[in-house]
Amino acid sequence: MLLLALLVTVVYGNYAAAELALVQPWAYLVGLGFVACLLGSVLLHELGHAVVARRNGIGVRRITLELLSGWTEMERDAPSPRVDALVSLAGPLVSMLLGGVATVAAVLLPERTVPGEIAFQLAASNLLVAVFNVLPGLPLDGGRALRAAVWALLKDRNRATVVAGWSGRVLALLTAATVVVLYQVGVLTMFGMLFVLLVVMTLWHGAGQSIRLGRMTGRFPLINLSQLARPLLTVPAGTPLGEAQRRRSEDPRPGAVLAVTDSAGTLTALVDPVAAERVPVDRRPWVSVESVSWSRDVLTSLPVGLTGEQVVRALQAHPGAQYLVTAGEDVIGVLRVADVAAVLEPQRVPRRPQRT
Ligand SMILES: [Zn+2]
Repeated sequence: MLLLALLVTVVYGNYAAAELALVQPWAYLVGLGFVACLLGSVLLHELGHAVVARRNGIGVRRITLELLSGWTEMERDAPSPRVDALVSLAGPLVSMLLGGVATVAAVLLPERTVPGEIAFQLAASNLLVAVFNVLPGLPLDGGRALRAAVWALLKDRNRATVVAGWSGRVLALLTAATVVVLYQVGVLTMFGMLFVLLVVMTLWHGAGQSIRLGRMTGRFPLINLSQLARPLLTVPAGTPLGEAQRRRSEDPRPGAVLAVTDSAGTLTALVDPVAAERVPVDRRPWVSVESVSWSRDVLTSLPVGLTGEQVVRALQAHPGAQYLVTAGEDVIGVLRVADVAAVLEPQRVPRRPQRT
């Protein structure tokens, strides 16, 4: 972002020097002022989203500013299509108002002066941001409004997200085709075309993420800890890794996970399958299981009764590869994060019981 700010300062500064007959460093200062105005415009756009969200009881965690776009992180999703639509359209509305005010200022201020020039540029950039953002495809604001409408129609937020995501992909393709045509008829420069195509690529990627997220969220209810928990095969501390693996290979339960117990029979650690695989086969009779294990203290426990959404939140809050599934004080099994991924995205990760 700093590089981009520097680039805009220099390019705009040079332009101001030529256009307004300014001497350096004053022209660069005007360039810097333009960067500050752009940032301010993006901030006000994001504040539009944030204020409407908070007025509807949705907390706002943070606003991230980039030079040409921003991102408002909210504590939770909108509870209804109406609120979703209001929050998403508030940003473009602010940009539209700013663009309108700047247009009036640009008309009133004398031409070929610094204030007049900046007002003109601000009018152009804010109107551009407003128009671009109301295009009806995720991840744009207009895409969120479209999702709200489809959500109200289908009564299914996740399917609406997928629909608005596909709309975003179609928009990205149409935009790409349009700029290529505009370049060929000479309206756009090569630089302009490449710049827009870069934006289109981000749009395409964001639309794909939205589709993926909508599909995955729709599958949250399928996460059932009592079904996903792999059975435990416990061995006492001090057991050689080779012997533990031999016992597991004889265990009839598919996907059983090796765990270590102390002399009282209490579970103290889980064998790390990756670390265990790294031990050369001829060394395994001399390596004890606990030396390739995660201590129970560092593992996160998930009560078996959690809903699918609660499980996903817990996995996000405590990233790891395996989790203990508990019923009261008892550990009843192990959840592997890969097994959750297989439920959420069956087409990406074919589920199969692993023997590791
Ligand atoms: Zn926005």
